[in-house]
Amino acid sequence: MTRVCWRCGARTDDDRRVRCDCGEPLWLESDPEAAPDSWPSCIESMWDVLPLLGVDAPSPGDGLPAAAGGTPLVRTEPLDTGGVTLYVKPEGLNPTGSFKDRGTAFGIAAALERGERRVGTVSHGNMAESVAAGAAAAGMDCTVLVPADIADERLAAIARYGPRLVRADGDYGRLYFEALEAGRDAGVRFLNSDAPWRVAGQATTALEVLAQFARTADGEAPDALVLPVSSGGHASGAWQAVRSLTAAGLLDAPPKLCFVQAAACAPIAEAFARGDDEVTAVEGGATIAYSIANADPPSGNRALAAASATDGAVVAVDDPAIERAGERFAGAGLAVEPASATTLAALEPLRDAGVLDDGDTAALVATGRGFGDGGAEVATERVDLSAVDSLFE
Ligand SMILES: *Cc1c(COP(=O)(O)O)cnc(C)c1O
Ligand SMILES: [Zn+2]
Repeated sequence: MTRVCWRCGARTDDDRRVRCDCGEPLWLESDPEAAPDSWPSCIESMWDVLPLLGVDAPSPGDGLPAAAGGTPLVRTEPLDTGGVTLYVKPEGLNPTGSFKDRGTAFGIAAALERGERRVGTVSHGNMAESVAAGAAAAGMDCTVLVPADIADERLAAIARYGPRLVRADGDYGRLYFEALEAGRDAGVRFLNSDAPWRVAGQATTALEVLAQFARTADGEAPDALVLPVSSGGHASGAWQAVRSLTAAGLLDAPPKLCFVQAAACAPIAEAFARGDDEVTAVEGGATIAYSIANADPPSGNRALAAASATDGAVVAVDDPAIERAGERFAGAGLAVEPASATTLAALEPLRDAGVLDDGDTAALVATGRGFGDGGAEVATERVDLSAVDSLFE
């Protein structure tokens, strides 16, 4: 599994290396010759589309890895906005409720093939849950490094899979690099946000969208693929998917890759707005879209390049707009995390920027499930059993 730098093209066969000497993240080398030149006839899991990436991939095994992906692409007419026809990919249907299961599945399967028994991650959210679950399913040891001030309910959600939980004091952004280094020395495989195996697994979200859309639209692609971005790992996977499908001759007009951030913490969107090709770390404030608040994204430059290379964009939306979008999703019958609701909120800025237009089609990736995100006061009625018959008078 050769790894290659997206920016300078340097290659390495060291499968513990995640970054190039130039500082940019590596991804797995795609060989278009190795990819099929037609769409799969049936998609039950991510493994049915993964061959389209043309990378050297492990076989799925059982448990969580075998069950990841294969989510539907749903036409959602109630969400259509400003003349744009919308489809939604509900990634909450994955085993632990987010697309992170795709990257975990690839990572766990590849580690098992190498006889490795120890994995880890740096996360206090969906990635932590996903890696802990994947390790539990595979009978592997798992270490999860969480910030010292993690909320109790987050901790409980991760703890149910039985990983070793370590609260880390100090700069959580630095921890991403420190943990990789420590893991490398100790033989613990860290499946962090933009690790090459994770990116390859997460490329299957876009592969599936494009394969599913091609089936309904006579081989065409949607005009845009919209997804929230934090570390830039998922966005990188989407770009890797588009590049490999283009090289394999399956995409005539690739979709514009459009990424969304929360305005309170939007280093990639700010760099895009300035026309920069390098992301500068920001201070980063609080947002309800807690899953996408990375102030110093390790794959930020690559996400920026993906948006530019496909005529897409990176936009930011504020919390009130995210909240309204979440309510619209719910009104269409879909429970999504605030991070995922950003995709719908992004339609207005994308139209204003001329990236999307009347008559276009867009696929929104609803990256994570929206259960347990409550918190707001809810108004209810109350009834006594003896008076139920009067409820509908
Ligand atoms: C992790 C996550 C993201 C952001 O993905 P990155 O690969 O870090 O950019 C978006 N939405 C949800 C629900 C997530 O869990
Ligand atoms: Zn490089």
